[in-house]
Amino acid sequence: MTFSDLGLSPAIVKAVEEKGYTKPSPIQEKAIPHILEGKDILASAQTGTGKTAGFTLPVLQYLTDTKHPKYRPLRALVLTPTRELAAQVHDNVREYSKYVNIRSSVVFGGVKAASQIATLKRGVDILVATPGRLLDLHDQKAVSFKRIDILILDEADRMLDMGFARDLNKLISFMPVERQNLMFSATFSKDIKKLAEGILKNPVSVETAPQNSTAKKVTHKVFKVDKGKKTTLLIKLIKDGNWEQVLVFTRTKHGANKLTQKLIKDGISAAAIHGNKSQGARTKALKNFKDNTIKVLVATDIAARGLDIPLLPYVINYELPNVPEDYVHRIGRTGRAGAAGEAISLVCSEETEYQNEIEKLLKEKLKSTVLDGFEPTDTTPPKRAATQSKSSFGKKKKTTNTSSSQGNKPKRKPHFKGNKPAGSTSGRGRTGAPKKKRF
Ligand code: ADP
Ligand code: MG
Repeated sequence: MTFSDLGLSPAIVKAVEEKGYTKPSPIQEKAIPHILEGKDILASAQTGTGKTAGFTLPVLQYLTDTKHPKYRPLRALVLTPTRELAAQVHDNVREYSKYVNIRSSVVFGGVKAASQIATLKRGVDILVATPGRLLDLHDQKAVSFKRIDILILDEADRMLDMGFARDLNKLISFMPVERQNLMFSATFSKDIKKLAEGILKNPVSVETAPQNSTAKKVTHKVFKVDKGKKTTLLIKLIKDGNWEQVLVFTRTKHGANKLTQKLIKDGISAAAIHGNKSQGARTKALKNFKDNTIKVLVATDIAARGLDIPLLPYVINYELPNVPEDYVHRIGRTGRAGAAGEAISLVCSEETEYQNEIEKLLKEKLKSTVLDGFEPTDTTPPKRAATQSKSSFGKKKKTTNTSSSQGNKPKRKPHFKGNKPAGSTSGRGRTGAPKKKRF
């Protein structure tokens, strides 16, 4: 199966080939044809499986096929929970749309609105945004949703976790009822299903991995250790193992800052990334981490969500998350796209209940070890794990059509205009871009 076989035009195929993609990933193969047919989609696949291209490519195809020669109203909107993710998705949109006449832009909070407003005024076909800033801009009449044909919710589960349900509802209330909705999520919780029921119409469910499963090549390891000795143990692991690129998760922003300072004091280059950091600091930390200027990135769950940090060998849970789904998201940062990875958790007595919940979700016991000199002595009783489901959303009851697309009427007309069927690969060859990832 090639990208052209899926019904994508040579201009789009050329752009993905330049990215080094040789064939569609499983989620792309499954989702793209349905999206091109105009159907609503509820897609769940583990992190790092190429969901971004899964929705961006067919949306670009639609936008180019149906473009008005003169006007450029906003016709596709991608909503993401975090600024980093918005920036990252937009980077992808730009790359994939290199050879088509489609304008894209991104808006998020934490930076001045003026230039965002100016860009929107000039007209964009597809916009990537975080909900809060977008609502502000809409209130200021800087953007209209009246002509939106396709709404995409990326990392929808995290949007709920972050309390964006109300903003989402409000944004949607300004959009035409007749539109296509695509919802992407790494996990598939009860809340997500509820959200889907409220927004999607007869969605096709697209799944490629067992629900809440983790990447197969990731090994899980637990070090039992006292709370007070975690930092020393982490430093030892990093130094003894000569780890070069380590993503460390803490539960709080304060904890992330404290740990970062301690690592730096011990001669390990590190930076923290969390919601209290300025946008500039967050972007810089991520960049330095990606280009190996710093060894350790200490992150909170929200900040790390959806970041594209390819091929990370180690992900460390300095503290276990109290929401078990977050463990799945965290370790989605390792073993991406078929590479091996290690998920290492430092677990103290207080966290044993969190570990139990995670094991229940994964249906797998995490291998526990004790390192010499770090034998736990604490007997602080365990804290209760959170049963997720904080928000409730979507009042209307609708039936969700799972696993079958039969009888689903497309929301908008199918648009195969100018879109050659299978086998219409362009004569333009590959560009010799590196073929890093295999699916
Ligand atoms: P997800 O949203 O599912 O977590 P992303 O869309 O961020 O995943 O993609 C993860 C990585 O895989 C990115 O670096 C992306 O460039 C790459 N990728 C996406 N599609 C393909 C493909 N078909 N072939 C190879 N690499 C791909
Ligand atoms: Mg993604």
